[in-house]
Amino acid sequence: MVITKDERAALEAVPEGLFIDGQWRESASGASFAVEDPSTGESVAEVSDGTAQDAQDALAAAHRAGPAWAATPPRARGEILRRAYEALVARTEELALVMTVEMGKPLDHSRSEIAYAAEFFRWFSEEAVRVRGDWLVAPDGKGRLLTMRQPVGPCLFITPWNFPIAMGTRKIGPALAAGCTVVIKPAALTPLSMLSLARILEEAGLPAGVLNVVTTSRSGDTLEPLYGDRRLRKLSFTGSTEVGRNLYARAAEGVLRISMELGGNAPFLVFADADLDAAVDGAVLAKMRNVGEACTAANRFHVEAAVAPEFARRLAERLGAMRVGRGTEPGVEVGPLVDGTTRDKVDELVGDAVGRGAEVLTGGRAITGPGHFYQPTVLGSVPPGARLLSEEIFGPIAPVVAFDTEEEALQTANDTEFGLVAYVYTSDLRRAIRVVEGLETGMVGLNRGLVSNPAAPFGGVKASGIGREGGREGIEEYLETKYVAIDI
Ligand code: NAP
Repeated sequence: MVITKDERAALEAVPEGLFIDGQWRESASGASFAVEDPSTGESVAEVSDGTAQDAQDALAAAHRAGPAWAATPPRARGEILRRAYEALVARTEELALVMTVEMGKPLDHSRSEIAYAAEFFRWFSEEAVRVRGDWLVAPDGKGRLLTMRQPVGPCLFITPWNFPIAMGTRKIGPALAAGCTVVIKPAALTPLSMLSLARILEEAGLPAGVLNVVTTSRSGDTLEPLYGDRRLRKLSFTGSTEVGRNLYARAAEGVLRISMELGGNAPFLVFADADLDAAVDGAVLAKMRNVGEACTAANRFHVEAAVAPEFARRLAERLGAMRVGRGTEPGVEVGPLVDGTTRDKVDELVGDAVGRGAEVLTGGRAITGPGHFYQPTVLGSVPPGARLLSEEIFGPIAPVVAFDTEEEALQTANDTEFGLVAYVYTSDLRRAIRVVEGLETGMVGLNRGLVSNPAAPFGGVKASGIGREGGREGIEEYLETKYVAIDI
């Protein structure tokens, strides 16, 4: 057992039970499931295993709390979010330890996620008081047209394990600001961070029933009764495209409003006129943030032939020098992957590319246990058809492919069902605008390896999703428009 005293204390501070109607309670079955540390494979905590009955209780609580929350002054709703923002910042160290122990990423990455997550609460605490409607004289002058914005109603949120708090606050912030109530189901691999977040919101003064958390090891069965329940008005999901497709179909049952933040396959384009030092720095960030387990992770590096070998060499040097280890150890830059399945998939993708002739410039292997570690890897001369060019890798693997022309670069970048983000490095302004306009993605990093910003609209096109989180657009996902025809 490698858990330290500080880690143990942080884990012990996580509240126990499901959070329903302002109460921390056991699941209806009384069962629990284990949470593991991916750097050791050891169990570090037990959490309540919610059932379909618990999910229905949570929705009933959200539904009951709805009218009073919608009628709460926007400033008061915003102030609760603001207090929660401050508590998240103040408790960063303790929350980061919990996050790293349950998810594996290095402590610094957990701290950054908490800062990012908290900013959604600050941003939407400010947006709560800026929801506006419209007023128009009818074109024939005979009436007046009033448009008002109202909360959508009770929402179901389903979130992934890779950003256990931020994927929650990105939804919870705008929903609470708009006056919606929430049932949230965090990923089974990382429930502890969400339970801690719920405690923070409770302590910030959130009324009972406005936010309800149901942890479960059987997501499908547990949430099944909710999709067709007339009390539910919105489903917002962040996770894989495969599960998202299925939930999109289920949401049709209740004709729910939906937001879908799904998988990615980000191309990272480097033109020969780019500042190569900046491109390599951006590549390290876009690839290695969150151990490569990010929907925005650069999945494939398309580099103009004249600079491709040099870019690949420098990237391999940087990744090869990164320190791999348990995320809470000082100096560690690359933690374990979240579980054995993820590590095996990464290994399979690398094996496929190497089998087709890709050259291993650094790494290329899983690290023998305990824990689910993989060597940071750069593959050069990756041939077309290699699976990791079309599938989401979700690990510390950087495949480099050379291109000859701008048209070829753009065509290859767009040749995917995904469309979340792309990165472009060039110092030619005209080219930058042409390429940015031609990319079929919801977001572009132009000479930048990081796009996420709570003040900007995050989201994808094509199979990467529907809707936007953050920015001015974020709160729109939680508002309905009501038009009133007025006779004068
Ligand atoms: P996942 O397997 O799709 O799971 C996401 C969430 O859905 C988890 O809470 C999971 O619960 C739940 N779930 C799975 N099957 C379900 C079902 N039948 N009914 C209801 N809920 C179900 O994805 P993941 O592996 O956790 O996350 C990685 C994926 O998320 C990647 O594809 C990544 O690109 C994507 N992602 C996208 C964004 C974005 O903003 N576009 C951001 C982050 C991640 P369990 O934990 O119990 O399985």
